[in-house]
Amino acid sequence: MPDITTFETLDSEIERVLGKPTVLEALWGGDTGGWHLLLYVYTVSGLLFFKRTTRHLLGEVVLPEGMEHGRLSVSLLAEEFGQKASEKYNLIFYFPSPKDADEDCPAWTERHLAITCADCSKLIIPTDSPYLPKDICYHCHLTREENEKIKNDAPRDEGVHMYLYKDDEYEHIGYCTYFDSFPIAPFVDEKVKNLLTDKPINIVKLDKQDIIELKSKLENVLGQKLNRYEKPVIDERKKRFIVTHTLQYKGRDYELMRNFNHEHIEISNFIHSIETAEKAIAEDYVYKIFFNNGITYRDDIFLRFIHYVCEGRTNIVDITNRYANVLTVTEVSKTLKRLEDLTCVSICEDQVNITQLGKCLI
Ligand SMILES: [Zn+2]
Repeated sequence: MPDITTFETLDSEIERVLGKPTVLEALWGGDTGGWHLLLYVYTVSGLLFFKRTTRHLLGEVVLPEGMEHGRLSVSLLAEEFGQKASEKYNLIFYFPSPKDADEDCPAWTERHLAITCADCSKLIIPTDSPYLPKDICYHCHLTREENEKIKNDAPRDEGVHMYLYKDDEYEHIGYCTYFDSFPIAPFVDEKVKNLLTDKPINIVKLDKQDIIELKSKLENVLGQKLNRYEKPVIDERKKRFIVTHTLQYKGRDYELMRNFNHEHIEISNFIHSIETAEKAIAEDYVYKIFFNNGITYRDDIFLRFIHYVCEGRTNIVDITNRYANVLTVTEVSKTLKRLEDLTCVSICEDQVNITQLGKCLI
């Protein structure tokens, strides 16, 4: 099956198929390697009562080298091919889901089994899952769920970010849903937990002395683990499932498995944690750990929208328009006021800017 990067490739594939091409079909398929957009052609052969329709797989639409990647560009390319093919062969171009990759769309000959999604009007074969709504596509289901969380202002009382900090400069060193998942957590737990309050945002700082103590505790435990270290022995059959890497510690190389071996994963984590601590000590950084204890799902979405979509700066009207079908004007301004009180954004007349604190939380 060839990669179809140009109309010429597609055209020569159509030419190879016997019979008159009547429909060109573009359908998404997904596997562990991601989404693939596949092209099929339906041909009719024979006469009168002996007419036969046959479906042939032509290939996958692939962007030519140098073209900007992304699902949308693959879609656009397929639409261009479809346009040209329908002009040349007078066929129908059938592409039920150009906007999102979706596996639930019917093939051309299955259209009678399909319904149109109540939200986006796309043709879909209704799901047989008892947990999913039957009248909308999976993509619209996720959008509805997300909108629901934004609308209800559901709490999002989790998420811990860790940074190295000096002179107003932040370097992100890790994110975990819960603090206990950080490899350094058991060694600084007591200190950190004593400093936590019930404020919506907690910032805990580890200074140089704390970091020196942390480093020596980490070195102790790592030393014990390395005394028990065993080089991985991987039999042929498992080779392709196992990923290894080699890390250096105190002048020695250690080959470590990155999966299926808890002890090895811990050794890697400790080596990285010690490197971070060494850097902090050598270059005068402190650790700053941000705990979210009152930021809601809606707050988080607003901060992400301002930071990632609007590059840190926008205005109230844009935010209101973005969530127009989910939130009222009052809900938007209440949320912005709350984020301003938490000093996650600064608001000046109509302008909204994300603050350093706001950036540290997402
Ligand atoms: Zn839909």
